[in-house]
Amino acid sequence: MNIKKSVVLAVASVFVLALAGCGVSHTVHAPDNTVQSMAAIEMPSIIETPDDYEDIVTLPDVLPEGWYEFLHRAPDEIIDDPNVALAMLIAGNERFVYDALMPRNTTLADRDINATGQWPFASIVTCADSRVAPELYFDQKVGDLFVVRNAGNFADETAIGSLEFSVAVLGSRLIVVVGHTDCGAIIHAHGGTTGLPTALQNTLGRIAELIPYATDVEEATREGVMSSVEILRANEVVIEHGALVVGAVFDIETGRVIFIEDLPY
Ligand SMILES: [Zn+2]
Repeated sequence: MNIKKSVVLAVASVFVLALAGCGVSHTVHAPDNTVQSMAAIEMPSIIETPDDYEDIVTLPDVLPEGWYEFLHRAPDEIIDDPNVALAMLIAGNERFVYDALMPRNTTLADRDINATGQWPFASIVTCADSRVAPELYFDQKVGDLFVVRNAGNFADETAIGSLEFSVAVLGSRLIVVVGHTDCGAIIHAHGGTTGLPTALQNTLGRIAELIPYATDVEEATREGVMSSVEILRANEVVIEHGALVVGAVFDIETGRVIFIEDLPY
C-alpha cells in the first residue's frame, strides 16, 4: 500500500468515525424535503480528496455534527468559518468531477428565503469563459456563491469593489480566485497580442501587468491567479474582516479545481 492510499484510508476512517461518533443518521434531506439514503448518493470523492490538498487546505480534524450540510444547506445558513466554506467547495467540486451532482433544484422554499436577502458562504473570482461556471463546478445552489467574472479572472477595480461588498456587507469570509486551463485571455495577454479593439486590448494589457515573469501559459495562469490573490490579501476590508483568500485553477478537461499557493518557479 502506498503512502497516498494510506492517507486516503486514514482520512476515510476519520470520516466514518466522525459519522458514527456524532450520531448523525445515515440520511440527508434533499431540497424537496424527501429523505434519501446515503447509499443512494454516491460521493466517493469526499474520502478521496483531502490528501490532494493537504499542503494547502486545513479541513476540520473532525467533521462537525451534521456534516452532510456540506452537501445541503438552507440559503440563510451562515458559514463564518472560511475553512468550512473551503471544505464545502472542495466537496462540491469532487461531486462535479465524479458526475455525482446533488439534486440542487432551487425550491419554492428556497426562493422565499432568497427573497429576503443573501448569505453567500464564499466569493469567487473566475473567468467569463463559457466553460467556467462556478455554481456548476462547485455544485452549489442559487444564493451560495457571490461571483465576479471577467476575462482573465483578475482583481480589477470593479472586482475588488464587488468583493469588498461581499465581505463587509454580506459576510462572506472566503474568496477564491479561480483561473482555468485554455484561457484565451491569458494566452493572448501572455503572447502580447496587438491590433485588437481598444477595450479588449486594454483588458489584456492589465492582465499582462499581472504576469510579468511567466515563461509559458501554464505559469501565466497560476501567476495571474496568485497576483490577484496577493492584491486581495492586501485589501483593508479583507484584512479587517479576516477573510481567507486562496487561489486555484480549474481544469476544463478533468473538471477538477486545483488549489494553489505558491508560484511554480
Ligand atoms: Zn479564461
